[in-house]
Amino acid sequence: MARIGFIGLGNMGAPMARNLLRAGHAVRVFDLFPDRIGRLVAVGAEAADSPAQTVLGAEFAITMLPSGREVRAVYSGPGGLIETAAPGTLLIDCSTIDVATARELAHLAGASGLGMIDAPVSGGVGGAEAATLTFMVGGADELVERARPILSAMGKAVVRAGEAGAGQAAKICNNLILGISMIAVCEAFALAERLGLDHQALFDIAAQSSGQCWSLTSYCPVPGPVPSSPANRDYAPGFTAQMMLKDLDLAIAAAQASGARLELGVHAAELYRRFVACGGASTDFSGVMRLIRGA
Ligand code: NAD
Repeated sequence: MARIGFIGLGNMGAPMARNLLRAGHAVRVFDLFPDRIGRLVAVGAEAADSPAQTVLGAEFAITMLPSGREVRAVYSGPGGLIETAAPGTLLIDCSTIDVATARELAHLAGASGLGMIDAPVSGGVGGAEAATLTFMVGGADELVERARPILSAMGKAVVRAGEAGAGQAAKICNNLILGISMIAVCEAFALAERLGLDHQALFDIAAQSSGQCWSLTSYCPVPGPVPSSPANRDYAPGFTAQMMLKDLDLAIAAAQASGARLELGVHAAELYRRFVACGGASTDFSGVMRLIRGA
């Protein structure tokens, strides 16, 4: 059993913290919304009223926050984790944020004698609830091994990507593939509709041909072929279009900073941006099918 401080109890953080409790760990929790703390206290967590109090006496501090801005505030602001955590506490940020901030915070933590790793996740809310997330981890080997049993209580795979920031780099590269491939699959189904080709027929053929990909066979953007995909429930998320846009914007910023060229990535981001601007922000990202179809 470990003593764990957990900050950020939203769609992902709340089920992740619940899984740590189920695994028998002592978990102290904090969020800006008291009702979110209350729901975790009802299932065995201890409440905290600040980030500093959350990590008091903790062996591990986990954050699951919206973006780099909040992560920076919680770690490096006055009363932040880098200032207040005891030496020996391992800091684990599971949020999806920009690579530069992840590297900078790990460096600041190291200068204060604290270990910090970035451990963003793939698997969405369903994976957080079922404890089947994949963690992509950046940081020193020894720190990653120390975190492994804790992360394993929330996920099915813990993969070390490299040094600090490498987890975030892996996450945005993966979601770049996903964001682009989803649009490719949507365009293929929109064309098939115009050509009078049945959804199921295209699916049955492409799923066994060179067009096969996760966006088609696990997350098909039209209703029918994959019963569990959001298309079958009016594109209820899942993974929202707003989140996909955030991740593509992170990829574009990283490409600009590093000199990489992202032609399709930039174009895909513009399509999700239009979908979000037309009211699709809280819709699953596969709902971009509506925009592609011209609705
Ligand atoms: P969310 O907005 O539902 O939850 C974030 C939580 O952080 C909220 O409860 C908010 O009140 C809290 N918070 C914000 N600032 C805070 C602060 N200063 N102190 C304490 N708490 C604070 O977001 P989410 O869907 O849980 O996503 C969290 C992270 O996981 C994001 O970085 C996201 O990109 C990533 N992610 C999400 C998914 C998904 O499907 N939702 C999948 C993979 C990765």
